Formats: sequence, structure tokens, C-alpha cells
Amino acid sequence: MSAKSNAKNYVNDVLNTVKIVSPRQPIFHQAATEVLQSLVPLFEREPKYQKHSVLDRIVLPEKTTIFRTVYIDDKGKACVHFGYRVEFNSALGPYKGGLRFHPTVNLDVLKFLGFEQIFKNSLTGLNIGGAKGGANFDPKGKSDGEIMRFCQAFASELSKLIGDVKDVPAGDIGVGAREIGYMYGQYKKITSRFDGAFTGKGLSWGGSLVRTEATGYGSVYFAEELLKTKNDNLEGKTCTISGSGNVAIYTAQKLYHYGAKPIAVSDSSGYIYDKEGIDVELLKELKEVKRERISEYAKIKPSAKFVSVSKYPKDRNGIWDVPCDAAFPSATQNELNLEDAKTLYNNGCRLVCEGANMPSNLEAIDFFLSKKDLLFGPAKAANAGGVAVSALEMAQNASMTSWSFEEVDTKLQNIMKHIFKISYEASKEFGDEGNIVLGSNIAGFRKVADAMIDQGYI
Ligand code: GLU
Repeated sequence: MSAKSNAKNYVNDVLNTVKIVSPRQPIFHQAATEVLQSLVPLFEREPKYQKHSVLDRIVLPEKTTIFRTVYIDDKGKACVHFGYRVEFNSALGPYKGGLRFHPTVNLDVLKFLGFEQIFKNSLTGLNIGGAKGGANFDPKGKSDGEIMRFCQAFASELSKLIGDVKDVPAGDIGVGAREIGYMYGQYKKITSRFDGAFTGKGLSWGGSLVRTEATGYGSVYFAEELLKTKNDNLEGKTCTISGSGNVAIYTAQKLYHYGAKPIAVSDSSGYIYDKEGIDVELLKELKEVKRERISEYAKIKPSAKFVSVSKYPKDRNGIWDVPCDAAFPSATQNELNLEDAKTLYNNGCRLVCEGANMPSNLEAIDFFLSKKDLLFGPAKAANAGGVAVSALEMAQNASMTSWSFEEVDTKLQNIMKHIFKISYEASKEFGDEGNIVLGSNIAGFRKVADAMIDQGYI
């Protein structure tokens, strides 16, 4: 059998096994398919990965913990939730990855996120393994007391797993500075340790400057690197950004620094289009301080209009109908399908840079890759800035120092440049120059896989 068909068969065999051993996990299958299929050219050249069954091992989390989480709501009712921590891979360092609190959280979602995190973390060049956790808890509409009690209940179990050189959680959707604070307080109470067991901490108690901004800033730095390959830059470009959490907010802020104009942002209720450009301070006030719906923005700013999701079929995301030069999907997984991709392209969009995890589905990615005049920055490369600064927070905690904003921001820029460079070089090495999906998957995988081989069958 040729090396090519052998490599293809190996990938298909592992993907079939994943389907059998992890039934009813379509989102994890999607993530595994996206990564594994682009590794075929690597396996054609390097039979050692098959010999050491690296793929068979890497698709299985090292350890998965599921725990009951119960808290008392303001009416005195006991509310019961599933808590999870998927410790996927520790070949490169302590488990690292965020916690998501959202009603859609289940093992499928967390396995997809944990799996992506392995390769994303590897790309940063820093010593961090991959993990993800969370709960099917909806923070929306909860009082501060309810959030605190939920976080304490969740952290009581989580604390048995984590530690500064063991497993270091951070935020993700529904988990920001407030939640990290409540969980860290509980961790400290249980373990009597003031160590860097979480990242995204408050600045006065071990947090790092730039952590809040990092994912959004990093995604814009990555977009600039993509544009440089075409002797272009962000200046003067109109941009749409889905989402309005910290990724979207700081993507918008950094776009202005580069002379671009963000014109639309969204939340689960719909999107706003502001022809004058998104007012970042107003967005921060509404979303970070007041925790309001995005429609409030249009009530305050006359240049903006709000378009409700109810105007669109369930599988479409209205924001992608807004004509733009560049799109930054920064809300959640599978928020951009083939129809959205075609609409963006037909309206003139020539750059898509993913701030969320796996926002484009497989058909949309294939469409983007088929367009030679469109630049595509896949999530695990483009949104790695957040976890990269988390690793810098760990480094500062370990050496009991704190770096200035400029120092951390410069390191972040260099890390994003490094990720782009190794992904671009791998795309070239494997015969499809500029295909950053291929390049980032191969570059991210190779480092973890080699470490797994070095460390024996564990
Ligand atoms: N949740 C973020 C991500 O998807 C950050 C994880 C972290 O900082 O550990 O990468």
C-alpha cells in the first residue's frame, strides 16, 4: 500500500473508532475530523506516529472528571448542575484551558474544546498541556450571590484536581474576572495555597496585565500577519465581529489602533450595525458593567440599528449579511455555516480571522480555503493570544514578579508572530503555502506528538 493511502486509512480508522467509543458527540467528532484530516501529509512522511499509536492516544483525554454541583438560589431552592474537567493532554506541561458556564455545556462540547486546546497551546511555544472544563449553568440573570455560591460549589470539587504545576483553569464563555475571583477564593480556603492555580486573576492578587485584552488583541495581530503576506494591512478596512464578550470588545479596540473600522457586533439576541463605527467604551459599559443586551446600544446611539435574531432562520447568523472587508467570528462554535461564508465572500469580505473556538463549520472552512483571494486565520492559531498570556501569568506568578502592560503586550505580539510563522512554514513544507489550517494543525500536533513519543507509553 502507498504511504498516502496508508496514512489516509490510519486517520479514517482512528476517526471511526472515535465515533464508536464516543457516540453522540458530534461536535467533538467535527473537531477531531478537522485536525486529523489535515495530518495525512505528515503521516505519509513520518510513519513513527502510527507506529507509536499517537493518534489513537491523542484523541482520548488522559482523565475526565464529572461531578455534581449544587447551590442554593435566592429563593432557597437547591439547583443541581453537571460540573466537568476534561484533562486532555499533559505532554507539554500542566493541563491548561478555560472553564465555560453555559446551558449548552456537556461532555461533547468540552471534549471538542479540550482537544483544540492541546494544539493551540502547543502553537504558543510555551509549556502548557490542554484541558477544558465547565458546567451547564447559565449565569444570565443570576444575582451576584447566586453566582458566588455556584462558583464556590463548583470550585470545591475542582480544587481536588488543580494546582499551579498540575492543572490551571481560566475563563471562557460565562466565566470572567468575577467568577475566577470566587473560585480562587474557594480554592485558597480548601487548599490553604496562594499559588497560580487559576489565570485571569484580579490584578492586585496575581493577575497579569493584558490578560483581559489578550484574545482580541492577539486575533488582530494575527490578522495583520495574514495581510502582510499580500502586502496589505488593516488600515481603512471595515470589519464585523460576532459576539460582544471580552474577545469581541478587545478585537474592536485593537482594530481602531490599526486604523480599521469595526461596524457590527452581536449577542445571542441579535446584532447591531453602527455606520459610524462601534463605540468601544459604550459597548464595555453595557456588556462588562451593566450586563445588558446588545439592543440597548442602539437605544443610546442614533447611528446604530439593532437587528433581532428572530428575523433569521435558526441556522443563520444575521451579522454575516453585513458587507465588510474582514470578519472576526468571536462568539461561539458553529456560528458560521456555508451560506454565511458565501454571503461574506460575495459581499466582498477577503479576510476571516477566528476569535472564538471553531466558529466556522467544516463546509464553511472548505469554502474559505477554496478561495485563493481570501485569507483565513483558523481559531487554534488566531485566538491563541488568550491562553498565551495565561501562560505568561503563570510565569509571573512562579517568579513572584509582575510585568508592565508594554512588556506583556510585546511578548503577546511576538507569540502571535511566532504562531503565524511556524504555521505558515509548515503549510509551505507540506505543499500548500498559505493554508494556515493545514500548517497550524501540523505544527501544533507535531510538537505534542514528539513529546508523547519521548515520554513513553503513559
Ligand atoms: N478559554 C480560552 C481559550 O479558549 C483561554 C484559556 C486559558 O487562558 O487557559 O483559549
